Amino acid sequence: MIDIGANLTHKSFDHDLDDVIKRSLDAGVEKIIVTASSISESKRVAAMTKQYSGILWGTAGVHPHNAKEAGDLFAETLDELIQNENIVAVGECGLDYFRNLSEPREQQKIFRIQLQIATKNSLPVFLHQRDAHNDFIGILKENESSVIDGVAHCFTGNKKQLKACLDIGLYIGITGWLCDPRRNQDLIDSIHYIPMDKLLIETDSPYLMPKALEKELKTRRNEPCFLPHIAQAIAELKKLDLGEVMLNTYQNSERLFFKQTQ
Ligand SMILES: [Zn+2]
Repeated sequence: MIDIGANLTHKSFDHDLDDVIKRSLDAGVEKIIVTASSISESKRVAAMTKQYSGILWGTAGVHPHNAKEAGDLFAETLDELIQNENIVAVGECGLDYFRNLSEPREQQKIFRIQLQIATKNSLPVFLHQRDAHNDFIGILKENESSVIDGVAHCFTGNKKQLKACLDIGLYIGITGWLCDPRRNQDLIDSIHYIPMDKLLIETDSPYLMPKALEKELKTRRNEPCFLPHIAQAIAELKKLDLGEVMLNTYQNSERLFFKQTQ
């Protein structure tokens, strides 16, 4: 399996990253894409992927929350960072109007620049969107190509939002949100409509610990080794074999992120 989104630069992993990666490999999660949310974090991610070469891969980019701190030189630095062969996507980038930590106009500007950089370098985009669906799809549609190479990471939306993402060619990233009975209703409705060749799985560690595991293991810190739990939840809802979900999501991750490294 491949965990396409884990925030392993989070401070909660500072003391035991070796063990976290060992547990991940033992659980059959053989590659992890480490998510970056700012330029300084992208540099840390790049260094981390070098240290755990062949297991950890990474993204480089600016999260919409951090758009206001991106600075004038961010595009140049990002351009340089993505030349690193372990960086397999631009992101996470997108729009987040839920907390509006940066002004929407600032977010849109930084998002557009990152889309251009990704297109120019033929890299996929790792996309974040919250409470900004219409603007998000609108900006993606400005792209000259009618199809976007990328993933709607931590997708939580309804059927209509799902269709808009699929229509522009996006892959759909599913997290432990699916396992949260308090807020997974939209996603449970839409999961049946995600084609098997567009489905990806991610933990978003250390966030979004699946609720059942949180109770059982008495920890709130999510880890890549819990990825099979998400595959299992999808298999149950879509009435499929667990093996089929694992194989398809693996192949989809390879196709989207690793076609250049093969
Ligand atoms: Zn995100």
